[in-house]
Amino acid sequence: MRRFILISSTLIIIAATFIFSLVTKRDDGKKDYAIAVHGGAGYFDEKTPPEVVKLYEDALSAALDKGKKMLEEGTAAIDVAEAVVRMLEDDSLFNAGRGAVLNSEGVAELDASIMDGATKKAGAVAGVKIIKNPVTAARMIMDETKHLLLVAEGAEKFAVSKGLETVPNSYFVTWSRERDLRKGTVGVVVLDKKGNLAAATSTGGMGGKMPGRVGDSPIIGAGNYADNKTCAVSCTGWGEKFIVNGVAISVAHLMEYRNLSLEEAVNYVFKNNLKEKDGGLIALDKNGNAVMKFNTKSMFRGYVSSDGAKEVKIWP
Ligand code: ASP
Repeated sequence: MRRFILISSTLIIIAATFIFSLVTKRDDGKKDYAIAVHGGAGYFDEKTPPEVVKLYEDALSAALDKGKKMLEEGTAAIDVAEAVVRMLEDDSLFNAGRGAVLNSEGVAELDASIMDGATKKAGAVAGVKIIKNPVTAARMIMDETKHLLLVAEGAEKFAVSKGLETVPNSYFVTWSRERDLRKGTVGVVVLDKKGNLAAATSTGGMGGKMPGRVGDSPIIGAGNYADNKTCAVSCTGWGEKFIVNGVAISVAHLMEYRNLSLEEAVNYVFKNNLKEKDGGLIALDKNGNAVMKFNTKSMFRGYVSSDGAKEVKIWP
């Protein structure tokens, strides 16, 4: 009898502990992993044919699926961010890698950056014309040099020395660019199973820009930022505005120094630093909660987490 009581009370304690852990897990709202992507802000309006919108939605949905699979397998946030941006760079629908918009001389000049929230290390390239996947060049600068940002020929020489794939500039110029200039920058923010955050952003910049112009996407703290303490952010829009306002790092610093939630911090920056039609951003906090906000008509964006919630949207 004593033995029976002992065994049954032990079982009751184990069951109670299990149920309690389930309840507390649900309560703290922390996701095992999460990923958000954007495909640019402000390029589409009500006149955009639904079948065109669908093309973009499908591409972002496939990017989320790829990221989710890698995260489920335990891949690090920084590797997921790079792989997903590479996929979008290869897709000519977007203004990044193949399909990038051209400068005023008809040349594609690409900018990209990546940041690891665990180490606060980052890498970036600007004004590159022959590197097939600028985000990977950014990653190599982060991993293999003591610098952060390399530009133009210097960046290209480094990428070639590391065996990265190069292409003629004409590779980036696609039929869809000539027929349709409404394309978006791409960006990804990731939280992995170990609790590490990462952000990556890639773009051809603003169509018709002056040769040599650099936007916010390769400027760490402006268009891209990640810090495990607070959040990961990737921006899109009128780059100059994001640079002068240090938009991405402002969100992180409002969380760190003013103790705001991610949503409060993003709202603060939009209200105080950005004007109507400047652009948008996607961000994840360290619990995997996403904020995807913009003040343009549209922003292609998507989010999926370990909770199973997946959304892909363009309109507000
Ligand atoms: N922010 C990018 C730039 O200014 C452009 C964009 O997001 O569409 O280069």
